[in-house]
Amino acid sequence: MNFHIMTLFPALVDTVLSESIIGRARQSGAITVNVYNIRDYANNKHNKVDDTPYGGGMGMLMAAPPVCACHDAISAKIPDTSKKRTVYMDPKGKILDHETAARLSAYDDLIILCGHYEGIDERALEEVVDERISIGDYVLTGGELPACILTDCVARLIPGVLADESCYLDESIASGLLEYPQYTRPYEFRGRKVPDILLSGHHENIAKWRREKAVEQTAKYRPDLLEKLKDKKD
Ligand code: SAM
Repeated sequence: MNFHIMTLFPALVDTVLSESIIGRARQSGAITVNVYNIRDYANNKHNKVDDTPYGGGMGMLMAAPPVCACHDAISAKIPDTSKKRTVYMDPKGKILDHETAARLSAYDDLIILCGHYEGIDERALEEVVDERISIGDYVLTGGELPACILTDCVARLIPGVLADESCYLDESIASGLLEYPQYTRPYEFRGRKVPDILLSGHHENIAKWRREKAVEQTAKYRPDLLEKLKDKKD
């Protein structure tokens, strides 16, 4: 899968997405991440990308021409046969969840647009954006961190990014429940021992214990998920 990230701060995005599992996935070719500086598409003397909003108001707005020119340049590189989608990171968007990440992971090319300052001229959004995604009900200074979050959670669903796909099937949220508690060495830490069942070697009993603990953790921290599961069964 190819991610194309449009931003005024490419180093911010590239740094975050060059480390750890996502960095290795880029190196192995399981995914590609291309970061585009919208400023490079400002066709004016001072590479100006923003201006004051019509009608007055605080702050600066990213102008439509460089955003659309950057999007045109990216689109021209993507084959017509490719399944592609453009997402705008936007506090007005639908809040990101596992279902959305899974749906987006089916695309070949995902173009992610990051706003900054007061946002982007609405006409650019009407021209290029297929959907708007928020990472939560709060406002950040820019779409760069949200774009990294979206890229990370979509990328880890792509075959070859995680060592084993079952890694995420068992995990919190994707399974419909929160994950059971996990332990590693040492056996005893500050007087707290690893539950004996995990040392028993009895796979069936361990699976049963994990399932019970997953339900327990979900009831404690996210009872709404249990309700959702119940509704699905009904
Ligand atoms: N004036 C805009 C409003 O009230 O809706 C907020 C602009 S915000 C300061 C600048 C940029 O940060 C946005 O264009 C968007 O790309 C990004 N952003 C801020 N909060 C976000 C969130 N919760 N989810 C996704 N993107 C966000």
